[in-house]
Amino acid sequence: MFRLFKKKKCAICGQKTVRPTEYIDDRGEKVLVCYKCVPYAERRAFRKKGKAG
Ligand SMILES: [Zn+2]
Repeated sequence: MFRLFKKKKCAICGQKTVRPTEYIDDRGEKVLVCYKCVPYAERRAFRKKGKAG
């Protein structure tokens, strides 16, 4: 597997993600959220990737 990897940044704080969690934002786009911002993502009702619906 040889894919181009962009530098991944947290969608909320903009820092390089540490232990990123994938969420789906309200536009249906995949975003990465670092562990520090997970509570914030939950508050904004981002959906965790992997669950249907
Ligand atoms: Zn963050």
